[in-house]
Amino acid sequence: MPANQITLGDVTITRVWEYSGPVDMTPETFFPESSPRTWEEHSSWLEPQFVDPETRIVNSAIQTWLLRSEGRNILIDTGVGNHKERPYSPVWSRLDTDFLDNLAEAGVRPEDVDIVVNTHLHVDHVGWNTYLDGRTWVPTFPNATYLISKADFDFWNPANEHKPLLGRGNQNVFEDSVAPVHEAGLTHLWEDSYTIDSNLRLDLAPGHTPGSSVITLESGTDRAVFVGDLVHNPVQFVEPDANSCFCEDPAAARATRRRILHWAADLGALVVPAHLGGQGAAEVVREGNGFVIKGWAPFAPYSSTSKEAR
Ligand SMILES: [Zn+2]
Repeated sequence: MPANQITLGDVTITRVWEYSGPVDMTPETFFPESSPRTWEEHSSWLEPQFVDPETRIVNSAIQTWLLRSEGRNILIDTGVGNHKERPYSPVWSRLDTDFLDNLAEAGVRPEDVDIVVNTHLHVDHVGWNTYLDGRTWVPTFPNATYLISKADFDFWNPANEHKPLLGRGNQNVFEDSVAPVHEAGLTHLWEDSYTIDSNLRLDLAPGHTPGSSVITLESGTDRAVFVGDLVHNPVQFVEPDANSCFCEDPAAARATRRRILHWAADLGALVVPAHLGGQGAAEVVREGNGFVIKGWAPFAPYSSTSKEAR
């Protein structure tokens, strides 16, 4: 089995690489509520995979989780995408990656994708929803149903004039990556929860954004939960009250993170965040006021500069 793939119950999980490396933020800017002591005490495993010890810049990964369940291909989050204009998120502006080749290496062509889940509608979770065809953004996955929570769709829809914490960081995102799939009739805007199949369920997990969601996998005796940006960096296992600077509702984000991590610890579920580099996912157990890692998933780590290790 390839090192980017595991099987839980009847579901195969494949990690599809788009980007890994520095994201232009220090621990203090990315996680303003985290304690410098935590970074120090856990430096033996946080460095260099999750923070560069020399530059003090946080490392992160952009990846899609490809699930094969009941004969269907399901993508969880679609990364940043190519050629997108992101004037207020320069790290993600005008990327040109071979993400679709990586997906093809996993055996999936765009037309083979049955379901796309956007855990929320931030810039780095919806990018490959569309690609540039001439001068027009068109759906990348023409046969897919795109599952988007109605709460996030309404929050990020520019017609509703919400003022997100992210400021203009999400500029153009709805217009080039969400509206085109909606206008093509490919979206299903769900509320509260949505059952994908007998192994997979989507639930609202608000806080990071109003419509952030998690996907729970329960198959046989195996459990996993895909938490999106509820956890950005494993420092948040140790300090679950430390939000990222991108959490729209800080109190709700803390409560939701604790609730989901407690559930995962109690049931031995694999926690699969959107952006962990290293081995990508972990099982956690309670310790003190937080959690510690019981074991990492067996995904092969990306190399620090990265392209080669996908
Ligand atoms: Zn993200």
